[in-house]
Amino acid sequence: MAFFEMIFHELISFLGISQLIEVCRTGNYKVLLTLNGIFSVISPILPFLLLLEIIRAIFYKRFKIEDYKMPFFIFVANRFISRFISIAAVVFCIGVLEKYALFNTSLKWYWFIYGYVIWEFSHFIYHYFGHKVRLFWCLHSTHHAPQTMNLSVTYAHFFLEAPYADVIRTSICILMGVNPPLLFIIMFIDGFWGSFIHAGENLIKDGRLGFLNSIILTPSHHRVHHAKNPLYMDTNFCNLLNIWDKVFGTFQHEKRDMQIEYGISREMNPNNFLDVYFGELYCLWKDIRKAPGVKNKLLYIVMPPGWSHTGDHKTAKVVKQAFLQQAKDQSI
Ligand SMILES: [Zn+2]
Ligand SMILES: [Zn+2]
Repeated sequence: MAFFEMIFHELISFLGISQLIEVCRTGNYKVLLTLNGIFSVISPILPFLLLLEIIRAIFYKRFKIEDYKMPFFIFVANRFISRFISIAAVVFCIGVLEKYALFNTSLKWYWFIYGYVIWEFSHFIYHYFGHKVRLFWCLHSTHHAPQTMNLSVTYAHFFLEAPYADVIRTSICILMGVNPPLLFIIMFIDGFWGSFIHAGENLIKDGRLGFLNSIILTPSHHRVHHAKNPLYMDTNFCNLLNIWDKVFGTFQHEKRDMQIEYGISREMNPNNFLDVYFGELYCLWKDIRKAPGVKNKLLYIVMPPGWSHTGDHKTAKVVKQAFLQQAKDQSI
């Protein structure tokens, strides 16, 4: 009985409806007008969209258990470990760094815009290094392993990634004066949009979302980010406002004549949990072992994925340059 109760509670918590149930039980609907109340209404949208996505896929006979199996296993593994470390990391960073903030902000609309731009910058930094430093790529690659796009991919993360991301993002925001209540509101919006942009083709066929595609970061841009096509690799690191991708030259639109290939470029088994979760760490370990000298061993840890001590690099930059050169040669 206790087992079913636990499953029931897990389901309620996954759907994000515990607060709504409480409101219905107590009849205190006024709560819905508070910030907490608004959050409790928005939180269940994504889990329900995920269910809708699965139901639609089943209806159109496109449902494949492999598309959802790995993110589900990863979600279960993370559920118990990652969240607690991450919350502790955020609280710790705020406690330590708040007194060093450059200045103080408040809950005014213009500070909200400022805070969001800073948050997006901090997200860019974490995400960029997640792709450009091999050790951090080991943490982030789990999220890029799925070979299709659907809302369950939003839950596919290595358990240490959230604490790492939150330490960087919280530290930058707090030092830049974003005050904690403002930061939590921004984190909530970012969490919502950051999940939504994983809506797959079964839910939204054209992820460009019309005119929004030229204003904010859409599912289409994030599909490009998850692609292993040479032109698309290491682009679109932002989450909602893609200003920093435009500033740092990593912005890329989805091309209508280029079919997206999801996944990571190394040979892997997307249905093997150990390969998805620890595969990159294992590859890094193998490279370190065979590298001559301490300097090369250390370089493997900090250089981008694909870097080689032999000079035969296969980094995203090298692969993209070769692709662009080939396209140029063919057009002459
Ligand atoms: Zn990424
Ligand atoms: Zn993603």
